[in-house]
Amino acid sequence: MKWRIWLLSFGITLVCVLIFGIASTQVYYNSSLDDGKEYLRVYMNEFGEINYALDENGARAFSEKLNGARVTFMDAQGNVLADSIAGKVAENHADRSEITDAISGGKNGDGFAVRGSSTLGKNMMYYCKNFDGKFLVRIAVFTDSDWLIFVKTLPTLAMFAGIMIALCIVVAFVVTHFIMTPVKKLATEAVNNDNVTTNYSELKPLAAILNERNRNIQRQMDEVKAEKEIVERARESKDEFISNVTHEMNTPLTSIHGYAELLEAGGMTEEQKQLAHKTILTQSERLTNLIGCIINYSEINSDDLPPYEVNFSTLAKETLSALKPEADKRNIAVTEHIDDNVLILSRHERLSEIFGNLVRNAIKYNKDGGSITVTLNRQKLEVEDTGIGISQENMSKVFSRFFTVDKSHNGKNGGFGLGLAVAKKICQKSGWKISVESALGEGSKFTVEF
Ligand code: ADP
Repeated sequence: MKWRIWLLSFGITLVCVLIFGIASTQVYYNSSLDDGKEYLRVYMNEFGEINYALDENGARAFSEKLNGARVTFMDAQGNVLADSIAGKVAENHADRSEITDAISGGKNGDGFAVRGSSTLGKNMMYYCKNFDGKFLVRIAVFTDSDWLIFVKTLPTLAMFAGIMIALCIVVAFVVTHFIMTPVKKLATEAVNNDNVTTNYSELKPLAAILNERNRNIQRQMDEVKAEKEIVERARESKDEFISNVTHEMNTPLTSIHGYAELLEAGGMTEEQKQLAHKTILTQSERLTNLIGCIINYSEINSDDLPPYEVNFSTLAKETLSALKPEADKRNIAVTEHIDDNVLILSRHERLSEIFGNLVRNAIKYNKDGGSITVTLNRQKLEVEDTGIGISQENMSKVFSRFFTVDKSHNGKNGGFGLGLAVAKKICQKSGWKISVESALGEGSKFTVEF
């Protein structure tokens, strides 16, 4: 960073010094030409003061007077009459601009020009004057070309550039220090804080990026944490499920095993044998039931089949008439408030599972001679009974897997505490709400809101 800033300022300085050098050379050159023109005019006035012969001697004498400036005498047409440099007489200079200017300027015309002299091989300044249209006098002196002036200024420019480079190094170090300190501070703060602020407007976009990045990292961490929790919960739930299944299986298996051993040992009365056979039969039925319930629960749990419109009214009426004998056995009256053609987007087996479980429970946990009221419309399903009810404490637990309030009912009614868990799972998957209101000893009301 430091070196980049230094290189940049060094480059800019170098270009500036060069531009400055070239520009000042040009100004100096132009002003030296103006000065040159002036003193050549003054030189020319010297010619008027002394009458020089228009021959080579005259030219040399005038040249000496002018400290060796080249002097050329010409006739009115520009033909050279004499030149202070020997051997130049034969030439006609009438095409040179200072001479044409002096001729065309009339009696007192004059002309000025600067060029590299082909004769002397150097840059020369020429001034030519017309004397009353009779003859022309031209004076020429050496002058520095603009390039030469530039070359002469080079040592000064180099010294100047050296000082500037040294200054650039110092400035680069100071500037990087001033820039880097707040940037470093911001970066350090960003490591420790979720939100960083800065007073420097130039660093505000950087602070915004760091804050956004911190937010993203936090979001990702939250997601990872949430996923971990879900996995952990799933693992716990699986362990709990296995433990419950094992527990539920243990009682019938122990019972079957015990009676089988007694039968094998022999010596039982006929009555005892009958009891043993009956128990083995009932407990193996119970085991089969349990396995059926578990299979049903896991099928519902992993069921992703597409939904379709089910006529829930028909399904409800059919189920109620199928369960009527069961209710009649215990003198339980069933009242229906079922709207016609309640169409629900679901699957037949899912609705049958919910409705069957709720009505069977309403019969199972009812009192003899009690009643059940079933209400079904497009908004909700309600199954209300006048049964044993559920205590406040157990109301939130009834939807948990393998939860049964009264363990003595367990088995007797074939309940493993999976019916309401299955109903809740289906409701959750369908986006419905299942709830219970109950008063112990008075009855319960289960509601599903579609
Ligand atoms: P189960 O197979 O044991 O009936 P459920 O999941 O259907 O399993 O019900 C869980 C428990 O909730 C039942 O064991 C019972 O104690 C209680 N319960 C369910 N429905 C009713 C009801 N209508 N009245 C009273 N208690 C009920």
